[in-house]
Amino acid sequence: MLSLSLYDFTFTNDCLQMTNDYIFLAPEAIFPITKDDNGELLKDQPATKFPVPGTLQGEGKMAGVPVLFLRTAGCNLRCMWSLPNGEVSLCDTPLASFDTRGEKRVEVEYVKNIILQNIGMMNHLVISGGEPFIQPFGLTKLISELKEERKIHVAIETNGTIFNDELVNGIDFFSISPKLKNSVPTIAKLDKTKVAIPFDPEQIENTRKNIEAIQSIIDHCNENLGKDFQLKFVVQNHDELTEIEETFLAHLKNWQPDDVVLMPLGSNPEELEQTRMIALETAIERGWRFSPRLQITYFGGVAGV
Ligand code: SF4
Repeated sequence: MLSLSLYDFTFTNDCLQMTNDYIFLAPEAIFPITKDDNGELLKDQPATKFPVPGTLQGEGKMAGVPVLFLRTAGCNLRCMWSLPNGEVSLCDTPLASFDTRGEKRVEVEYVKNIILQNIGMMNHLVISGGEPFIQPFGLTKLISELKEERKIHVAIETNGTIFNDELVNGIDFFSISPKLKNSVPTIAKLDKTKVAIPFDPEQIENTRKNIEAIQSIIDHCNENLGKDFQLKFVVQNHDELTEIEETFLAHLKNWQPDDVVLMPLGSNPEELEQTRMIALETAIERGWRFSPRLQITYFGGVAGV
């Protein structure tokens, strides 16, 4: 297993040079698991504290479904949100997005074997990040090889800024989470976080909205029976309703109100407390879905659950 940093890859197209034999994974990698790639029991229990692999999908249309997660490393955005109380909430997977120094370059074969040894009766794999679409080749190969052995349902969690016509073929469910203006990093926000994060606000602002990429995913789902998607927006105030409608939904076609999911901003129970009721009220008002964050409610939002 080699280690190579994606830290500098996130604003470039260097991902296109990557081999399809490897995937870059965040420290959590494949989780929660109890067995290695040969089926031998691991020494440590998973972070869920259950003696079995797997967890629940905590968000969106698939909330409550038993799943195994694969967390890829690297992201083309650097989300940090201002909360109603003036504090700043960082991306809830910083080791997969801002700081990828702990990432692992892992062979596709090895990843496939771990998944097959641990997926048990669950049959659902969620590929999350970071932003998985920055490394389409290894993931395309992984999904193709997995599906040759088992008809696993594969979901992907993406910020909707990149489309790849090979990777989408193997995906059954797309959780698209377009990022609103409040997610864009600024120096003022960074000053409150006490973390060192390299970013270029202008580049993030220009990257975060790609209507064409989102529409391509929606069209792909509508053209392929059995595929589905959701447009999941993280919200913290009423003004963002207008932004969601005017900046995104007004420019997208062939979606239903049922496909729009509002999720309260926050990566811990205290932050969620500030935003939950706004998301609830707005979802009811518009006939959209409200998303819980079950991984925070039941497991405290720690890594690996
Ligand atoms: S797009 Fe997702 S993974 Fe990337 S920085 Fe934003 S919240 Fe984190």
